[in-house]
Amino acid sequence: MARALRVTRGEGAAVVAEIPDDEIGEGPVTIDVEWSSLNYKDALAVTGRPGVIRADRLIAGIDLVGTVRESADPAHAPGERVLVNGRGLGETHDGGLAEIARVPGDWPIAVPDRFTARQAAAIGTAGYTAALCVLALGGTTGTTYDGEILVTGATGGVGSLAIALLARGGHTVAAVTGKPAGQHDYLRGLGATTIIDRAELESAGKPLQSERWSGAIDTVGGPVLANVLAQTRYGGTVATCGMAGAPEVTASMMPFILRAVSLVGVNSVFTPTAARDAAWRLLDRDLDTDLLDGLTASIGLQDAVAAAERMLAGETTGRTVVDVRA
Ligand code: NDP
Repeated sequence: MARALRVTRGEGAAVVAEIPDDEIGEGPVTIDVEWSSLNYKDALAVTGRPGVIRADRLIAGIDLVGTVRESADPAHAPGERVLVNGRGLGETHDGGLAEIARVPGDWPIAVPDRFTARQAAAIGTAGYTAALCVLALGGTTGTTYDGEILVTGATGGVGSLAIALLARGGHTVAAVTGKPAGQHDYLRGLGATTIIDRAELESAGKPLQSERWSGAIDTVGGPVLANVLAQTRYGGTVATCGMAGAPEVTASMMPFILRAVSLVGVNSVFTPTAARDAAWRLLDRDLDTDLLDGLTASIGLQDAVAAAERMLAGETTGRTVVDVRA
C-alpha cells in the first residue's frame, strides 16, 4: 500500500488515502517518489476547484522527484534519480503527491547532479517554467534585451525563480508585487533592484505608456499584463505563463504594431523534451542553491490542502515542497 493525496470528483478537497501499489498510475517506469511540490495548479486541484483534474478520481501533484524502482523501458534503470514535471501528471494521470508513481518511459528526466531531490522538487514546474520564460525572452525580433526586465507575481514560485535566474544571468530586474513593503527585502534578496506595487498596474491604462521594460515575465494576466505590454520598449518580448490575477486581458494592438512588442505564451505541460532539457540546463547553470533553499518550505501530505488554501489567497511566498513520506 502507498499513501497518496487523492481527489474524487464532487467530494471537495483531496484526502490522504492508502492505495494498493498496483492501482497507482500506468506505465513501464515505477518510481519511489520522495518529493512533490505545491504549484498554483496543485493548489486548485487539491482544494477541489474544477478545471485541473480531468478524471473522476485521481492522485494530485504535477511534479515528482524520486528514484526508479523498476523499469520495463530500457531508457531507465533501477536506482536512477529522476523527475517528472507536467505531461499530464496530476491532471489526467495519477500524480506526484504519492509514495509511488507509474509513468510512461519518455516522461522522467534525470535530476541534474548539482541538485538534491528536495531542491529539484523546489524548482519543480514553477522553476522550470520560469526558465522557459527566461529562454522565451529571446523573442522573435532578435533584439537583445539589455535593459530592465519586469517580473509580475514576483513573490510567487514562478516569479521568485524567474527573478533569481535573471539576476544571476546579469540582468537588471524589476518586480511587481501585491505584498506589503515589509516583504520587499525578500525580493531584493533574490536580485530585484526595483519594486513596484501591483496596485499601480491594476487599473486600465493608456495603450502606449513610457517605454520602460526591455522584456517581461508575467504570471498574473488581466490589466497588469495590458499595462506591462503598454510599457514595454521597442522590440521587447513579454513571456506570459500565468493568470493568478485574471484570465481575461483587454489590451491595445498598439504595442505590437507600433513598438514591435511580442507576446509569447509559455506552456510547461506539453513542452517537448529538448526544450525541457534546455530549461533544466539553464537552471543547472544559473540557479543559486542557497537562495533556493532559503525560499523553500517543507510540508507533509496531510498539510497540503491547508497550504493550498493559503496559496490561493495570495498569502504564500516562494516554493513549498511536499515530503510524501512525512
Ligand atoms: P504562486 O501562488 O506561487 O504565485 C502567484 C503570485 O501571483 C502570488 O505570489 C502573488 O504574487 C500573485 N498573485 C496572487 N493573487 C493575485 C491576484 N489576485 N492578482 C494579481 N497577482 C496575484 O503561483 P505559481 O508561481 O506557481 O504560478 C503563478 C501562475 O503561473 C499561476 O497562474 C499558474 O497557474 C501559472 N503557471 C503556468 C504554467 C504554465 O505552464 N503556463 C506553469 C506554472 C505556473 P505577489 O503577491 O508578489 O504579487
